[in-house]
Amino acid sequence: MPALNDDLIRKLPKTDLHVHLDGSLRIPTLIELAKQHNIKLPSYTVEGLRELVFKDSYKNLPEYLEGFLYTTAVMCDKEAIERIAYEFCLDNQAEGVRYVEVRFAPQLSVRDGFTMTEVVKAVDRGLRRAAQEFNARPEVRDGLEPKFVAGMILCAMRYFEGTWSQGFGRFFDAMPEADRFELYSTASVEVARAAVRLRDEGCLVVGIDLAGQEKGYPAGDHKHAYQIAHEAFLGKTVHAGEDYGPESIFQALGDLHADRIGHGTWLFSEDKIQAHIADKKAYIESLVEYIADKRITLEVCLTSNQQTVPELADLSKHPFAEMRKRKLSTTFCTDNRLVSNTTVSNEIGRAVKAFDLTAREVRDSLIYGFKRSFFPGSYLEKRQYVRQVIDYADRILGRTESS
Ligand SMILES: [Zn+2]
Repeated sequence: MPALNDDLIRKLPKTDLHVHLDGSLRIPTLIELAKQHNIKLPSYTVEGLRELVFKDSYKNLPEYLEGFLYTTAVMCDKEAIERIAYEFCLDNQAEGVRYVEVRFAPQLSVRDGFTMTEVVKAVDRGLRRAAQEFNARPEVRDGLEPKFVAGMILCAMRYFEGTWSQGFGRFFDAMPEADRFELYSTASVEVARAAVRLRDEGCLVVGIDLAGQEKGYPAGDHKHAYQIAHEAFLGKTVHAGEDYGPESIFQALGDLHADRIGHGTWLFSEDKIQAHIADKKAYIESLVEYIADKRITLEVCLTSNQQTVPELADLSKHPFAEMRKRKLSTTFCTDNRLVSNTTVSNEIGRAVKAFDLTAREVRDSLIYGFKRSFFPGSYLEKRQYVRQVIDYADRILGRTESS
């Protein structure tokens, strides 16, 4: 197999299974929409926003999260959201991403006159338009290259404030006597129900996710929402082990039946386990074995982790090294194309350099992304698609034998 260079990485068919729509806008679009909707930005130039908001590295999590204030503010009507979803797909297509599952919290955009259904349908239209245009290309239409396929993952939040959006504020208004955790749980049940219904109505919804601060906001509060998704055979992923440890990953698997884990960064960290577990080492061993054997896929976001966790400044120290050693199912994802200032190709290129990955390993990890996707189609269609992707990847890598 040839040595991997940036050009080859761009050409290879890739997936992004963990990417937030509101963290992946184009800056010129953000500026244009902000002006249109009278939303104040700290700067109205690409350079200015790169300097002040969307940086290469961040001092802390609040600084990292600041950009989302602006991006979510402009995602306020159908036109804006459809455009953002459409451009997001074009940017993926331009770097060889053929399959993407984009996630967002629809309740963040909900306001008077703009329902969760309308938010999801606006994203759906953007994704479909971009896919149709791409798939009309002769090489794709004639089956020489794999299609571009996009799905949506709707995010429930572990935590939210009523000030984040009218959509969230309504929960506080409707249930003034409830404790906060009941509100979080109720809001996520709404997301799960909407996800199932919209999927059944033909939208490209393929799964649900749980996002937001982990520590102090356990996955168990969202059991009901995930049970609804589970019973409807919807894909389930959970942000876990990002700012909390192995127990949080176990909760995602045990309480929420997660098929995939967003990040899983602290999977091996004994020091992040709470006191009740006597033999922490054995606990981690069992958990890792379970994840390996059940082929639970870890959505690894290297750059994003580095930006929020200073200890990971040296990328070779990232727990991906251990995940790789133990042959866990992993896939490289961007998390946020704008906020993390990255692309899938960049994530892979950085991984190749930091961990000295072989072309074979990269090929296998790309294919894992397709295999472990929540593909919006039947299993047989998915197999056929994955087969086509493998053949195409091998053609690019100059191999004729199949695996
Ligand atoms: Zn994420």
